[in-house]
Amino acid sequence: MASIPSHEFHDLDDNMMSPEKEFAAMDVDLAQLKQRIPLLEYLQRRNWTGCRVGAQQEFVGLCPLHPDTRPSFYVNARKNLFYCHGCQRGGDLIRFVEISHHLSFRESLAYLQRDIAVVADSELLEKTAAFYRLQLHRHPEAVEYLQQRGLQDPDLIEELGIGYAPGGNLRRHLADLGYSFALLRRTGLINHQGRDAFCRRVMFPCRQQGRVINLYGRSIGTAFPHRLLPRSKGGLFAWESVRAFSTVILVEGLFDLAVLWQADFRNVTCAIGTHLTPAQLSQLCEPPGRCIYIAFDHDANQAGQQASRLLARLLESTGLQARIVPLPPGHDPNSYFAGGATASDFLACMEQSQSL
Ligand SMILES: [Zn+2]
Repeated sequence: MASIPSHEFHDLDDNMMSPEKEFAAMDVDLAQLKQRIPLLEYLQRRNWTGCRVGAQQEFVGLCPLHPDTRPSFYVNARKNLFYCHGCQRGGDLIRFVEISHHLSFRESLAYLQRDIAVVADSELLEKTAAFYRLQLHRHPEAVEYLQQRGLQDPDLIEELGIGYAPGGNLRRHLADLGYSFALLRRTGLINHQGRDAFCRRVMFPCRQQGRVINLYGRSIGTAFPHRLLPRSKGGLFAWESVRAFSTVILVEGLFDLAVLWQADFRNVTCAIGTHLTPAQLSQLCEPPGRCIYIAFDHDANQAGQQASRLLARLLESTGLQARIVPLPPGHDPNSYFAGGATASDFLACMEQSQSL
Protein backbone atom coordinates (compact mmCIF):
# COMPACT_ATOMS: atom_id res chain seq x y z
CA MET A 1 0.00 0.00 0.00
CA ALA A 2 1.42 3.36 -0.99
CA SER A 3 0.67 5.45 2.05
CA ILE A 4 1.93 8.83 0.95
CA PRO A 5 -0.89 10.65 -0.86
CA SER A 6 0.02 11.44 -4.43
CA HIS A 7 -0.61 15.15 -4.02
CA GLU A 8 2.47 15.26 -1.77
CA PHE A 9 4.58 14.40 -4.79
CA HIS A 10 3.82 17.56 -6.72
CA ASP A 11 6.75 19.22 -8.30
CA LEU A 12 7.46 22.59 -6.78
CA ASP A 13 9.28 23.66 -9.94
CA ASP A 14 5.91 24.22 -11.59
CA ASN A 15 5.22 26.98 -9.13
CA MET A 16 6.73 30.29 -10.23
CA MET A 17 6.57 31.65 -6.68
CA SER A 18 8.16 28.62 -5.11
CA PRO A 19 11.00 29.21 -2.71
CA GLU A 20 13.05 26.80 -4.79
CA LYS A 21 12.99 29.28 -7.69
CA GLU A 22 13.67 32.13 -5.35
CA PHE A 23 16.80 30.40 -4.13
CA ALA A 24 18.12 29.48 -7.54
CA ALA A 25 20.00 32.76 -7.35
CA MET A 26 21.53 31.83 -4.00
CA ASP A 27 23.83 29.37 -5.69
CA VAL A 28 22.50 26.55 -3.59
CA ASP A 29 22.13 23.38 -5.57
CA LEU A 30 18.96 22.02 -3.98
CA ALA A 31 18.95 18.72 -5.82
CA GLN A 32 22.54 18.11 -4.78
CA LEU A 33 21.81 19.15 -1.21
CA LYS A 34 18.94 16.67 -0.93
CA GLN A 35 21.01 13.98 -2.60
CA ARG A 36 23.83 14.44 -0.13
CA ILE A 37 21.46 14.02 2.82
CA PRO A 38 18.91 11.29 2.10
CA LEU A 39 15.79 11.93 4.21
CA LEU A 40 15.76 8.47 5.80
CA GLU A 41 19.42 8.72 6.80
CA TYR A 42 18.82 12.20 8.25
CA LEU A 43 15.96 10.89 10.38
CA GLN A 44 17.87 7.79 11.50
CA ARG A 45 20.81 9.91 12.62
CA ARG A 46 18.27 11.60 14.90
CA ASN A 47 17.19 8.24 16.30
CA TRP A 48 14.01 7.83 14.25
CA THR A 49 13.17 4.18 13.70
CA GLY A 50 10.80 2.99 11.03
CA CYS A 51 9.58 -0.39 9.83
CA ARG A 52 9.57 -1.18 6.16
CA VAL A 53 6.09 -1.41 4.68
CA GLY A 54 5.24 -3.12 1.42
CA ALA A 55 7.66 -3.82 -1.38
CA GLN A 56 8.41 -0.16 -1.96
CA GLN A 57 11.19 1.64 -0.13
CA GLU A 58 8.68 2.95 2.33
CA PHE A 59 9.00 3.07 6.11
CA VAL A 60 6.56 3.86 8.90
CA GLY A 61 7.20 4.95 12.48
CA LEU A 62 6.17 7.39 15.19
CA CYS A 63 5.88 10.98 14.02
CA PRO A 64 8.78 13.17 15.21
CA LEU A 65 6.66 16.28 14.58
CA HIS A 66 3.77 15.63 16.95
CA PRO A 67 3.12 13.47 20.04
CA ASP A 68 2.38 10.12 18.44
CA THR A 69 1.41 6.79 20.00
CA ARG A 70 0.60 4.80 16.85
CA PRO A 71 3.00 4.93 13.90
CA SER A 72 1.57 7.43 11.44
CA PHE A 73 4.73 8.90 9.90
CA TYR A 74 5.63 7.49 6.48
CA VAL A 75 8.93 7.96 4.67
CA ASN A 76 9.49 7.12 1.04
CA ALA A 77 13.24 6.54 0.88
CA ARG A 78 13.35 6.45 -2.92
CA LYS A 79 11.50 9.73 -3.42
CA ASN A 80 12.94 11.31 -0.25
CA LEU A 81 9.50 12.38 0.95
CA PHE A 82 7.56 12.05 4.18
CA TYR A 83 3.91 12.25 5.13
CA CYS A 84 2.22 12.03 8.53
CA HIS A 85 -1.37 10.81 8.70
CA GLY A 86 -1.60 12.17 12.27
CA CYS A 87 -0.65 15.83 11.76
CA GLN A 88 -1.24 15.71 8.00
CA ARG A 89 2.07 17.30 7.16
CA GLY A 90 4.46 16.13 4.50
CA GLY A 91 7.16 17.11 2.04
CA ASP A 92 10.87 16.79 1.53
CA LEU A 93 13.87 17.11 3.82
CA ILE A 94 13.88 20.89 3.70
CA ARG A 95 10.20 20.96 4.67
CA PHE A 96 10.96 18.57 7.52
CA VAL A 97 13.70 20.86 8.84
CA GLU A 98 11.41 23.89 8.51
CA ILE A 99 8.71 22.23 10.62
CA SER A 100 10.88 20.42 13.16
CA HIS A 101 13.20 23.38 13.88
CA HIS A 102 10.69 26.19 13.22
CA LEU A 103 12.99 27.65 10.58
CA SER A 104 12.33 29.56 7.39
CA PHE A 105 13.23 28.01 4.05
CA ARG A 106 16.41 30.08 3.89
CA GLU A 107 17.39 29.13 7.46
CA SER A 108 16.67 25.46 6.76
CA LEU A 109 19.06 25.49 3.82
CA ALA A 110 21.78 27.02 5.96
CA TYR A 111 21.07 24.43 8.65
CA LEU A 112 21.40 21.57 6.17
CA GLN A 113 24.61 22.96 4.71
CA ARG A 114 26.09 23.00 8.22
CA ASP A 115 24.81 19.44 8.65
CA ILE A 116 26.68 18.37 5.49
CA ALA A 117 29.90 19.95 6.79
CA VAL A 118 29.46 18.23 10.17
CA VAL A 119 28.91 14.84 8.53
CA ALA A 120 31.94 15.29 6.23
CA ASP A 121 34.14 16.26 9.19
CA SER A 122 32.95 13.37 11.28
CA GLU A 123 33.71 10.92 8.45
CA LEU A 124 37.23 12.30 8.33
CA LEU A 125 37.60 12.05 12.11
CA GLU A 126 36.22 8.50 12.00
CA LYS A 127 38.87 7.49 9.45
CA THR A 128 41.53 9.20 11.54
CA ALA A 129 40.42 7.37 14.68
CA ALA A 130 40.46 4.06 12.79
CA PHE A 131 44.01 4.77 11.60
CA TYR A 132 45.12 5.55 15.16
CA ARG A 133 43.50 2.33 16.44
CA LEU A 134 45.65 0.35 13.98
CA GLN A 135 48.78 2.15 15.16
CA LEU A 136 48.22 1.28 18.83
CA HIS A 137 49.48 -2.29 18.66
CA ARG A 138 52.32 -1.40 16.33
CA HIS A 139 53.90 0.83 18.95
CA PRO A 140 54.99 -0.90 22.15
CA GLU A 141 55.52 2.47 23.87
CA ALA A 142 51.77 3.13 23.57
CA VAL A 143 50.69 -0.22 25.02
CA GLU A 144 53.24 0.21 27.79
CA TYR A 145 51.82 3.63 28.57
CA LEU A 146 48.29 2.22 28.86
CA GLN A 147 49.58 -0.42 31.27
CA GLN A 148 51.31 2.27 33.34
CA ARG A 149 47.98 4.05 33.58
CA GLY A 150 46.34 0.84 34.80
CA LEU A 151 44.48 0.06 31.59
CA GLN A 152 44.79 -3.59 30.56
CA ASP A 153 41.38 -4.86 29.44
CA PRO A 154 41.67 -5.32 25.65
CA ASP A 155 37.87 -5.35 25.24
CA LEU A 156 37.54 -2.00 26.99
CA ILE A 157 40.42 -0.51 24.97
CA GLU A 158 38.56 -1.58 21.84
CA GLU A 159 35.17 -0.41 23.15
CA LEU A 160 36.55 3.07 23.87
CA GLY A 161 38.25 3.08 20.47
CA ILE A 162 41.60 3.99 22.01
CA GLY A 163 44.40 4.47 19.51
CA TYR A 164 47.86 5.93 19.21
CA ALA A 165 49.19 8.83 17.17
CA PRO A 166 52.89 8.24 16.60
CA GLY A 167 53.05 11.45 14.54
CA GLY A 168 54.40 11.88 11.05
CA ASN A 169 52.23 9.38 9.19
CA LEU A 170 48.61 10.61 9.33
CA ARG A 171 48.84 13.28 6.63
CA ARG A 172 50.01 10.86 3.97
CA HIS A 173 47.42 8.27 4.96
CA LEU A 174 44.57 10.75 4.66
CA ALA A 175 45.96 12.22 1.42
CA ASP A 176 45.98 8.68 -0.01
CA LEU A 177 42.30 8.44 0.92
CA GLY A 178 41.71 11.60 -1.14
CA TYR A 179 41.37 14.23 1.60
CA SER A 180 42.62 17.67 0.66
CA PHE A 181 45.29 19.48 2.59
CA ALA A 182 42.83 22.37 3.08
CA LEU A 183 40.33 20.11 4.85
CA LEU A 184 43.02 18.59 7.06
CA ARG A 185 44.14 22.09 8.01
CA ARG A 186 40.58 23.23 8.67
CA THR A 187 39.87 20.35 11.05
CA GLY A 188 43.16 20.96 12.83
CA LEU A 189 44.54 17.47 12.18
CA ILE A 190 47.49 19.08 10.42
CA ASN A 191 49.19 22.16 11.84
CA HIS A 192 50.26 25.24 9.88
CA GLN A 193 53.67 23.68 9.24
CA GLY A 194 51.94 20.75 7.55
CA ARG A 195 52.76 18.32 10.36
CA ASP A 196 50.44 15.98 12.23
CA ALA A 197 48.85 17.86 15.14
CA PHE A 198 48.87 14.74 17.32
CA CYS A 199 52.29 13.29 17.96
CA ARG A 200 53.19 10.60 20.52
CA ARG A 201 49.72 10.71 22.02
CA VAL A 202 47.24 8.09 23.16
CA MET A 203 44.01 8.93 21.33
CA PHE A 204 40.37 8.76 22.43
CA PRO A 205 37.60 9.52 19.91
CA CYS A 206 34.77 11.63 21.42
CA ARG A 207 31.44 10.51 20.00
CA GLN A 208 28.00 11.99 19.97
CA GLN A 209 25.03 10.10 18.55
CA GLY A 210 27.45 7.60 17.11
CA ARG A 211 29.55 10.17 15.26
CA VAL A 212 33.11 11.19 16.10
CA ILE A 213 32.97 14.92 16.88
CA ASN A 214 36.43 15.44 18.37
CA LEU A 215 39.65 13.63 19.21
CA TYR A 216 41.44 13.80 22.54
CA GLY A 217 45.14 13.03 22.66
CA ARG A 218 47.12 12.40 25.87
CA SER A 219 50.84 12.95 25.46
CA ILE A 220 52.99 10.01 26.51
CA GLY A 221 56.08 12.22 26.45
CA THR A 222 56.96 15.64 27.74
CA ALA A 223 54.64 17.66 25.46
CA PHE A 224 51.64 19.50 26.90
CA PRO A 225 49.57 16.61 28.33
CA HIS A 226 46.11 17.32 26.91
CA ARG A 227 45.10 18.16 23.35
CA LEU A 228 41.73 18.37 21.64
CA LEU A 229 41.01 19.54 18.10
CA PRO A 230 39.96 23.20 17.95
CA ARG A 231 36.23 22.46 17.87
CA SER A 232 33.48 21.74 20.37
CA LYS A 233 34.25 18.94 22.82
CA GLY A 234 30.56 18.13 22.50
CA GLY A 235 28.39 16.71 25.24
CA LEU A 236 29.47 14.58 28.18
CA PHE A 237 31.64 11.61 27.18
CA ALA A 238 29.64 8.47 26.30
CA TRP A 239 26.48 10.15 27.54
CA GLU A 240 24.23 7.86 25.47
CA SER A 241 25.26 4.93 27.66
CA VAL A 242 25.44 6.82 30.97
CA ARG A 243 22.22 8.83 30.81
CA ALA A 244 20.09 5.90 31.99
CA PHE A 245 21.70 6.03 35.47
CA SER A 246 20.13 8.09 38.25
CA THR A 247 23.50 8.20 40.02
CA VAL A 248 26.40 9.43 37.91
CA ILE A 249 30.10 9.73 38.70
CA LEU A 250 31.76 12.73 37.04
CA VAL A 251 35.53 12.66 36.53
CA GLU A 252 38.06 15.08 35.03
CA GLY A 253 39.89 12.92 32.54
CA LEU A 254 39.35 10.05 30.13
CA PHE A 255 41.91 7.86 31.91
CA ASP A 256 39.88 8.29 35.12
CA LEU A 257 36.82 7.19 33.20
CA ALA A 258 38.62 4.27 31.58
CA VAL A 259 39.87 2.70 34.83
CA LEU A 260 36.46 3.15 36.49
CA TRP A 261 34.69 1.51 33.53
CA GLN A 262 37.29 -1.25 33.75
CA ALA A 263 36.35 -1.71 37.43
CA ASP A 264 32.70 -2.01 36.32
CA PHE A 265 31.54 1.47 37.31
CA ARG A 266 29.60 2.06 34.10
CA ASN A 267 27.84 5.18 35.38
CA VAL A 268 30.96 7.32 34.87
CA THR A 269 31.11 10.25 32.49
CA CYS A 270 33.64 12.99 31.84
CA ALA A 271 33.60 16.61 30.69
CA ILE A 272 37.34 16.53 29.82
CA GLY A 273 38.37 19.08 32.42
CA THR A 274 36.57 20.51 35.44
CA HIS A 275 34.44 22.98 33.50
CA LEU A 276 31.00 21.97 32.25
CA THR A 277 29.53 23.66 29.19
CA PRO A 278 25.86 24.74 29.44
CA ALA A 279 24.96 21.83 27.12
CA GLN A 280 26.74 19.33 29.38
CA LEU A 281 25.05 20.80 32.45
CA SER A 282 21.63 20.42 30.88
CA GLN A 283 22.43 16.78 30.02
CA LEU A 284 22.95 16.09 33.74
CA CYS A 285 19.65 17.80 34.55
CA GLU A 286 17.57 15.67 32.18
CA PRO A 287 15.71 13.80 33.59
CA PRO A 288 15.74 15.77 36.86
CA GLY A 289 16.74 14.43 40.26
CA ARG A 290 20.10 12.84 39.49
CA CYS A 291 22.75 12.46 42.14
CA ILE A 292 26.23 13.40 40.87
CA TYR A 293 29.38 12.12 42.57
CA ILE A 294 32.24 14.46 41.71
CA ALA A 295 35.54 12.55 41.65
CA PHE A 296 38.09 15.15 40.55
CA ASP A 297 41.83 15.19 41.26
CA HIS A 298 42.83 15.65 44.87
CA ASP A 299 45.65 18.14 44.29
CA ALA A 300 48.22 19.33 46.79
CA ASN A 301 47.47 22.92 45.76
CA GLN A 302 43.73 22.44 46.37
CA ALA A 303 42.88 23.26 42.73
CA GLY A 304 40.86 20.09 42.22
CA GLN A 305 39.03 20.44 45.54
CA GLN A 306 38.16 24.04 44.74
CA ALA A 307 36.87 23.06 41.30
CA SER A 308 34.79 20.30 42.94
CA ARG A 309 33.16 22.72 45.38
CA LEU A 310 32.42 25.27 42.65
CA LEU A 311 30.84 22.61 40.48
CA ALA A 312 28.88 21.09 43.40
CA ARG A 313 27.42 24.52 44.12
CA LEU A 314 26.49 24.97 40.45
CA LEU A 315 24.87 21.52 40.26
CA GLU A 316 22.86 22.11 43.44
CA SER A 317 21.64 25.46 42.12
CA THR A 318 20.12 23.60 39.18
CA GLY A 319 18.32 21.12 41.45
CA LEU A 320 20.77 18.21 41.25
CA GLN A 321 22.21 16.44 44.27
CA ALA A 322 25.99 16.75 44.35
CA ARG A 323 28.50 14.83 46.45
CA ILE A 324 32.25 15.26 46.50
CA VAL A 325 34.26 12.02 46.61
CA PRO A 326 37.35 12.37 48.83
CA LEU A 327 40.26 10.51 47.25
CA PRO A 328 43.50 9.95 49.15
CA PRO A 329 45.76 13.06 48.96
CA GLY A 330 47.56 13.47 45.65
CA HIS A 331 45.33 11.01 43.80
CA ASP A 332 42.85 11.12 40.96
CA PRO A 333 40.71 8.07 40.16
CA ASN A 334 43.24 6.95 37.56
CA SER A 335 46.32 7.10 39.78
CA TYR A 336 44.31 5.52 42.61
CA PHE A 337 43.46 2.44 40.53
CA ALA A 338 46.84 2.35 38.77
CA GLY A 339 48.38 2.29 42.26
CA GLY A 340 46.45 -0.87 43.11
CA ALA A 341 43.12 0.34 44.50
CA THR A 342 40.13 -1.93 43.90
CA ALA A 343 36.46 -1.31 43.16
CA SER A 344 35.64 -1.74 46.85
CA ASP A 345 38.30 0.85 47.80
CA PHE A 346 36.64 3.32 45.47
CA LEU A 347 33.20 2.42 46.82
CA ALA A 348 34.52 3.17 50.32
CA CYS A 349 35.58 6.64 49.09
CA MET A 350 32.13 7.15 47.60
CA GLU A 351 30.55 6.23 50.93
CA GLN A 352 32.64 8.92 52.60
CA SER A 353 31.49 11.52 50.10
CA GLN A 354 29.80 14.61 51.38
CA SER A 355 27.43 17.15 50.04
CA LEU A 356 28.33 20.82 50.53
ZN1 LIG B 1 2.73 13.97 12.65
